[in-house]
Amino acid sequence: MFCPKCGSMMFPKGEVWVCRKCGNTLPIKEEEKKGIVEKGKKKETIVVEKEEINLPIDKTVQCPKCHEFGVYWEALQTRAADEPETRFYTCTHCGHRWREY
Ligand SMILES: [Zn+2]
Ligand SMILES: [Zn+2]
Repeated sequence: MFCPKCGSMMFPKGEVWVCRKCGNTLPIKEEEKKGIVEKGKKKETIVVEKEEINLPIDKTVQCPKCHEFGVYWEALQTRAADEPETRFYTCTHCGHRWREY
């Protein structure tokens, strides 16, 4: 989106586009709003994928299958929010996956 007055880039701010150079504002159209929201969603997805790859490692947990120490873990909220979170472990050596009991 470019400013019709000075040709500078405009930035979405609430319900309007704002020109940072001359301060001109334009109302944001409905279809433009959707585009902004979709861009935001895509960003979130990328962040989630990154977190899955960079899972924290707990070197004090032993794998029940190969008996090596060192596992990736992720905490998942199960059912009701007042229940304690469940940890899922993935062995860094053999890839075995199990949940904490
Ligand atoms: Zn302008
Ligand atoms: Zn293992």
